[in-house]
Amino acid sequence: MRMVADQIVARGIRDDKVIAAMMSVPRHLFVDSALSSRAYHDCALPIGCGQTISQPYMVARMTELLELQGSERVLEIGTGCGYQTAVLSRICRRVYSIERIEALHNRARQNLRAARHANVMLKCGDGLLGWDEYAPYDAIIVTAGGFASDVWMQQLKPGGVLLLPEGAAGNHRLVRRRKLARGWNEEYFDDCTFVPLLEGVHHH
Ligand code: SAH
Repeated sequence: MRMVADQIVARGIRDDKVIAAMMSVPRHLFVDSALSSRAYHDCALPIGCGQTISQPYMVARMTELLELQGSERVLEIGTGCGYQTAVLSRICRRVYSIERIEALHNRARQNLRAARHANVMLKCGDGLLGWDEYAPYDAIIVTAGGFASDVWMQQLKPGGVLLLPEGAAGNHRLVRRRKLARGWNEEYFDDCTFVPLLEGVHHH
């Protein structure tokens, strides 16, 4: 509750559905038990394999920018530990989430089961290829930083939005592109830093 008051509401997040979802997902279930005392701190934390769970504010901000109403099917690129997935799943119909590192994909599955999220489908694969089987999506959210793959726009419904931290390593900016009947429009938001969007799948 304090995390939501101090980091989310105090910084201007106003969407009631986002606030309720941030209140209801137990973030400590998504970080390693050795770090659980810091689970609600105002920062990203390591989740193994060189990756991170995003800062709470950034999860809320990205979720808010999707402007979800409840009936949407959302594709997430970069499941990580599954925290953003869990938040999304509370406010849309179904979340499809892809992770390229098999160990994290497996851990996210356990975490989401522990938090009882039924409307989530996970896949270990290269998110740069999208997930054609369930396309088109109402929204696509990318939680690793880099440059957009052309297939994402193809896998969106007209009127749907693609949200990603765009730019070269260490220098990202949130961009939201709305697919129109022809082409798209785009709006830029917060500067941010994400782990890199990488090609291919990592098994071990
Ligand atoms: N959504 C997470 C953030 C995880 S960090 C959260 O809730 O905190 C970003 C994740 O994107 C990492 O786990 C990384 O392995 C993954 N990733 C990077 N490039 C990817 C790609 N091409 N396809 C799928 N996942 C990718």
